[in-house]
Amino acid sequence: MQQLSNKVAIITGASSGIGYATSRLFAREGAKVVVAARRQAELDALVGEIEESGGEAVALAGDVKDETFAKALVEMAIGRFGGLDVGFNNAGSMGEMGPTPDVSLSGWKDTIETNLTSAFLGAKYQTPAMLGRGGGSLIFTSSFVGYTVGMPGTAAYAAAKAGVIGLVKAMAVEFGPKAIRVNAILPGGTDTPAARGFADTEDKQAFVKGMHALKRIATPEEIAQTVLYLASDASTFTTGTALLVDGGVSINKT
Ligand code: NAP
Repeated sequence: MQQLSNKVAIITGASSGIGYATSRLFAREGAKVVVAARRQAELDALVGEIEESGGEAVALAGDVKDETFAKALVEMAIGRFGGLDVGFNNAGSMGEMGPTPDVSLSGWKDTIETNLTSAFLGAKYQTPAMLGRGGGSLIFTSSFVGYTVGMPGTAAYAAAKAGVIGLVKAMAVEFGPKAIRVNAILPGGTDTPAARGFADTEDKQAFVKGMHALKRIATPEEIAQTVLYLASDASTFTTGTALLVDGGVSINKT
């Protein structure tokens, strides 16, 4: 049985990596998906793949820092598919990295906006649409960075991703009585273009794998399975969590 039949989902960061894998999985599980990112061609290709496999998807290109984009995504979900049940606010990037005193104010602001303000904007517009359906599931992509692990050179990213967890906890309490569940996933190292940019040599890749108890990093499809869990009725009593799906990077001391 499909786990998301009759559900409508918005997925940001869908042009690549975790968002791309989640879009394909959600569509396979019966969801109608609104896929979002800045790169139109990648989104169009994704919609084509989903439709070829018998699924339903529509793309909207834009920047998650932009309030009008957050609103337009919800309008698209309602206009094309009749409502909204799941918001996977996943788009993000590490932004400007380096020793904290060297980080520019504009780099700091951009990283916070890309990873944290975008989460707020998604929630701001997705929540009222879910209230109209009698409930829903808001899911955000945070990280072990800034929560269970301190990593040098990542001040803005770590602060933004930790901020997402605060947003999750506040909203879970605010909207629990209205049957909206609010959770964050905290992926460990995951084999995506972003991770390949971060670990760009074999030595660095071996180091990153070694940080994990499982001595490897995840595939985007493995992370997508956890997002599916939080989106589906398999997790009806799960809210307010910062759900580690991190291969043991947070507890590893070996
Ligand atoms: P990725 O392959 O680089 O994907 C990032 C996605 O976000 C792309 O679809 C990108 O699309 C989109 N995006 C970035 N900035 C955007 C913006 N301003 N507006 C709209 N879309 C934007 O990386 P990923 O690893 O799948 O990352 C997904 C999420 O997982 C991120 O939040 C990341 O911080 C988090 N994460 C990743 C790892 C890891 O090891 N990979 C670990 C922990 C957490 P466009 O470029 O087309 O806009």
